[in-house]
Amino acid sequence: MSGVLVASDLDRTLVYSRAASMLPPGSTAVLRCVETYLDEPASFMTETAVEAVEALGREAVLVPVTTRTRAQLARVRLPGASRWAVAANGGHLLVDGEPDAGWARRVAEGAAQGESLAQVHAHLAAVLDPAWTSALRVADDLFCYAVVRPDLLPSDVVPALVAWAAARGWRVSVQGRKVYAVPATLTKSAAVRELADRLGSRLVLAAGDSLLDADLLEAADRAVKPPHGELTASGWEAPGVTTTARAGVLGGEDVALWLLAQVRATTAVPAR
Ligand SMILES: [Mg+2]
Repeated sequence: MSGVLVASDLDRTLVYSRAASMLPPGSTAVLRCVETYLDEPASFMTETAVEAVEALGREAVLVPVTTRTRAQLARVRLPGASRWAVAANGGHLLVDGEPDAGWARRVAEGAAQGESLAQVHAHLAAVLDPAWTSALRVADDLFCYAVVRPDLLPSDVVPALVAWAAARGWRVSVQGRKVYAVPATLTKSAAVRELADRLGSRLVLAAGDSLLDADLLEAADRAVKPPHGELTASGWEAPGVTTTARAGVLGGEDVALWLLAQVRATTAVPAR
């Protein structure tokens, strides 16, 4: 084992929904399904990306780090994934799919510092108009998210929510059709730091595309993001963070290839 931990977001970083996985005209890339939902193919990677993450699985410790709930994560079959995973934006540190109890206690202590989930949920229910909100869900009793019509969402709603949440120890992130409200203490980077400590990892690489990935990318030794998504759209940059050339599902391929190249560069035996 190389001692390298590769912590990667899934959606719109490594895996892409049907709508997000449209190939540009002329592309000869082949898509492979990596998630099935209600008997329908739901998420995809290119064959080249699949081969790259399989190699990552052999040459490093590949850890999916997602805002998905446990149930949503369980649907994804990420080739090369190790026995560890982070779900619910750091709320669960999973070992063979089961939550680590010690980590769950620390998450609960952190959540007690800010506004309660019930209060945040009630606020969202009050301000999200059913005219453009199709669902408001609680995720694993840790945070909540709404499913909205972005084309109908008034432009002042998200900035107001961001300010309301920030004053109460919560964060708001918009990813495609979903508006997330997450406790500020619930971070991907904290869960990855814990796992890196336990594994004694000597190097942490990370990948992500949304504002909920920003702390993960900043905390890593080196990181990569695609040129689409909330981070790029907001102009976010940080030292040591590379942006891939291609966007969309081909950007996912670039992310996987970049991570593999970094692992190989750091584990290469110097020539004598
Ligand atoms: Mg993402």
